Amino acid sequence: MRAIIFDFFGTLTDPSAELLRKETIQATAAELGVSPERFWTAMAASFPDRIVGAYGGTRDTLRTIARQCGTDPDDERLDRAVATHRKGAERVRTPRRGVLAVLDHLRARNFRLGLISDCSSELFEAWPETAYAPRIDAPVFSWQERIRKPDPRLYATAAARLGVPAAECWFVGDGGSREHDGARWAGMRPVLVTNAGYPGVGGLRTDPDSYLPEHRIDELDELIRLLGPSHDNG
Ligand SMILES: [Mg+2]
Repeated sequence: MRAIIFDFFGTLTDPSAELLRKETIQATAAELGVSPERFWTAMAASFPDRIVGAYGGTRDTLRTIARQCGTDPDDERLDRAVATHRKGAERVRTPRRGVLAVLDHLRARNFRLGLISDCSSELFEAWPETAYAPRIDAPVFSWQERIRKPDPRLYATAAARLGVPAAECWFVGDGGSREHDGARWAGMRPVLVTNAGYPGVGGLRTDPDSYLPEHRIDELDELIRLLGPSHDNG
């Protein structure tokens, strides 16, 4: 195995940070002058379309959703809302404890590292300035590709950008969106991160996987043991 492709939310990020999602969206609503509950509902309903780019970038998205909620924000208000929204998104993508050291360790062992994320505009726009970016060789975003998991083209794109055959890639994720089904169809070797140490977080998941991978770890740093003794992957 020469490459490892990660899911993003709940896999590289702190699973507990998912609990902040609602309050950060509602802070954006307050800046827009929209009812927080109504805005949260509209954001949730638009999620499937937002993650395949149908609402465009963050600024356009917030304006469109605000209008759906009956408010047409002026430019100044929209600027403040975008800034607040970006700060909120940054909190939701707080790195999981120890994750950067794990990625550095894997890079030092010459694994090629990829990412497949079902994400809206916020992550794509902020990616280059995150601590993840310099550690991931090939990030693949649903927002940019305009397709979502488990579409096999996302997995094929990640493998191609890494320059590694799918059969030589692990796929590591906390499940949801049938991402492990997608990985095995693609010929990758799936690993489930159970997040057993984060009770109450898994209940937030929509679209759970029915397929349970053979390889399961509770915490991301267990991946190092799962991959076996250090050897030259170059
Ligand atoms: Mg996830």
